[in-house]
Amino acid sequence: ERPASRQSRKKVVAVVGGGLVGALNACFFAKRGFDVELFESREDIRRAKIVKGRSINLALSHRGRQALKHVGLEEKIVAQGIPMHARMIHSLNGKQSPIPYGRKGQYILSVDRANLNKELLTAAETYPNTKMNFDHKLQDCNAETGLMTFVRLDGSKEQVKAHLIVGCDGAFSAIRKQFLRRSRFDYSQTYIPHGYMELTMLPINGEFAMKPNYLHIWPRNTFMMIALPNLDKTFTCTLFMPFEDFEKITTGDEVIEFFQKYFPDTIPLIGADTLRRDYFRLPAQAMVSVKCNPYHIGDTCVLMGDAAHAVVPFYGQGMNAGFEDCIVFDEIMDQFNEDFSAVLPEYTRVRVPDDHAIADLAMYNYIEMRAHVNSKWFLFRKYVDNILYFFMPKTIIPLYTMVTFTRTRYHEAVKRWHWQNKVINRGLLLSAVAALLGGSYLLIKNPPDINKLIVSAEKMWDRLVALRTL
Ligand code: FAD
Repeated sequence: ERPASRQSRKKVVAVVGGGLVGALNACFFAKRGFDVELFESREDIRRAKIVKGRSINLALSHRGRQALKHVGLEEKIVAQGIPMHARMIHSLNGKQSPIPYGRKGQYILSVDRANLNKELLTAAETYPNTKMNFDHKLQDCNAETGLMTFVRLDGSKEQVKAHLIVGCDGAFSAIRKQFLRRSRFDYSQTYIPHGYMELTMLPINGEFAMKPNYLHIWPRNTFMMIALPNLDKTFTCTLFMPFEDFEKITTGDEVIEFFQKYFPDTIPLIGADTLRRDYFRLPAQAMVSVKCNPYHIGDTCVLMGDAAHAVVPFYGQGMNAGFEDCIVFDEIMDQFNEDFSAVLPEYTRVRVPDDHAIADLAMYNYIEMRAHVNSKWFLFRKYVDNILYFFMPKTIIPLYTMVTFTRTRYHEAVKRWHWQNKVINRGLLLSAVAALLGGSYLLIKNPPDINKLIVSAEKMWDRLVALRTL
């Protein structure tokens, strides 16, 4: 056992996991003057030739940006991101229709995961009271005493002791395993039947193959594809589809046939040969949702980020929620003068309902994609919400706006959404009665052009489908 490295007389905080949340959290603790040791199982990604990991790029929104701002990184990261002001919906016939995310000036950012992770690690390292330990895989720990055992690539072991262990080691957290051994720890994990596969769309003549400032979406009922822009003018396309459908496609010709049927406009952009090859490069990846409670053990161990709450990616909030965890913890540290015995239980009390709410919302969006896609009433309601938001921005705020562009607590956003739904549904019922009477009268007097009516209904349909997700 080696003593943790000490630069000050403050307590030693071990951050386990140097992914997005762990690296950011190291900055938060270092800024407060703690002696921080970060332990990451992989080698230093800033030196690695190939960076393995999950999605290539992610959507950064308000909550994540606020957390970056706390440690002085917002401007730098935003400058390296690509603003996406709207969704761009691709219909089957190749037609593209933009749907803004919010009001003017409201946008989400496409950021490169590996680059963001590298910037966060570099930022953490600039604090003299931070020590980075790569190639340190946590094998075991005693959450009560703070003693951790790490294994290195060469098989050697190292034991380190800390006053506080912060588990940021992702959806399959080794720290969380300690919690599972204890009584009164609630835990649930759900794999969804869909998998995801990433495909790259290269630039054409040195330029983006599609309009860059959009999150492109091809909604196709039980499956969909999205594409986010990258700084090197490529797009990363992510196909979400049930595993059984992925498995049905076994040859290059079947890939092309499938894309011809559902995403014909992307074939010339990605390239038929690339599609044939890249579809089989990596198998589709699984997506898991994890919920647990509490997030802490005594005054010595706490979980944050995906280790506490892995969510399915259909609200673009996993990382944003994990980053917000860091701010919430930091705010509670102020309230309780950094007394871990008070901070940790309060963190669980405050944060569990919010993280559970975003996990539920993300799952709801996923289910909704399949179950409600044919519900005209449901889609119509989304449209109404946006119109009302335009005219009454303080009273009716669409759920997506609350989640993405504010720091309204997730569980309060859900509560408010339910309340708004009640009010709007009642209002609509009244308006429907009035419209039925007035409309019948007008229709009898001026019969409409049926063809025009069908075309505009189709247009509206595509837009409504897109509004529900991402
Ligand atoms: P991770 O990023 O998983 O990092 C965990 C780290 O811990 C890793 O570096 C790992 O090597 C290390 N580690 C693991 N085990 C050990 C161990 N035993 N010892 C030491 N180290 C260990 N979120 C968004 O906000 N917006 C999006 O648009 C978005 N899109 C997504 C798209 C997809 C397809 C997926 C799958 C997720 C998406 N997410 C998105 C979610 C986001 O990726 C996660 O929420 C985020 O990566 C969580 O960060 P983390 O640091 O908690 O975990």
